[in-house]
Amino acid sequence: MPELPEVEVVRSGLAPAVTGAVVAAVEVLDRRSLRRHDAASGDFETLLTGARVEAAVRRGKFLWLPLSGDERRGGRAVVGHLGMSGQMLLRTPDHPGDDRHARVRLHLEHPEHGELRVDFVDQRIFGSLAVDRLVPTTDGETGGFSDGVTGEWARQLPSQVAHIARDPLDPAFSERAFVAALAKRDTGVKRVLLDQGVVSGIGNIYADESLWAVRLHGEHPASSLSPRRVRELLAAVRDVLGKALAEGGTSFDAQYVNVNGASGYFEHSLNAYGRAGKPCPRCGTPMVREAFMNRGSHFCPRCQRRR
Ligand SMILES: [Zn+2]
Repeated sequence: MPELPEVEVVRSGLAPAVTGAVVAAVEVLDRRSLRRHDAASGDFETLLTGARVEAAVRRGKFLWLPLSGDERRGGRAVVGHLGMSGQMLLRTPDHPGDDRHARVRLHLEHPEHGELRVDFVDQRIFGSLAVDRLVPTTDGETGGFSDGVTGEWARQLPSQVAHIARDPLDPAFSERAFVAALAKRDTGVKRVLLDQGVVSGIGNIYADESLWAVRLHGEHPASSLSPRRVRELLAAVRDVLGKALAEGGTSFDAQYVNVNGASGYFEHSLNAYGRAGKPCPRCGTPMVREAFMNRGSHFCPRCQRRR
């Protein structure tokens, strides 16, 4: 399942290819991938065709392309969520259309790169594409992470993403608000890390890695952590995400491939996730896996004692 580093790899790969391109045509091969598109706002294909892509922006695991054009297209964006298995593949126009999991194809014309195609490929159809309205950010800061391109859309974000908190790599992420949010939660700290309304972009893998780094058990009540401990945890989250990003994401899902369709995630050494039964890299105690929200939590029973 793609997490923030994997989605950022996709965003940064798409950005130079799609920024400034005009959508020449749209092919919807499977309308189930449009279930988050609000048809009342207009037809997906009609809204998109003829629009110009202004940038590629990301918040957490959401990715969007702000659009310009006439009145109907301006103030909107194509917003994508990769779900469990979604991919955005950059193709040349003559690439054979043989991918049976291709759901939507955007045919683009770029002033420098010529004709391009972006294929939204999604085997399990938990991901989606939609054309959505842009709304202003509540804190007046930029909507998400991009390459610093500015425009009237820069301090906006798709309405579907408005309830998603900023991710810890976002320059406008508020550390103070994060500390305050944890102080109010009596639930286990891991659950709070996975709550996209508190902080976005942290999935199961990077939550386990961050908790291991600061020797914290995931069931430890968030509200009992001191502000200093919360800041240590946040620093660990940023470190773990930053390292994964530098290595281009983490490989756990054979379905994931990067923007050019090359072979996927990049191997990355992990300390906790997926290491049940193996020695803790810090103390040598065999690591443990426990069931957690239909998934698993991986931790060291010695370094990360449940209190
Ligand atoms: Zn240990």
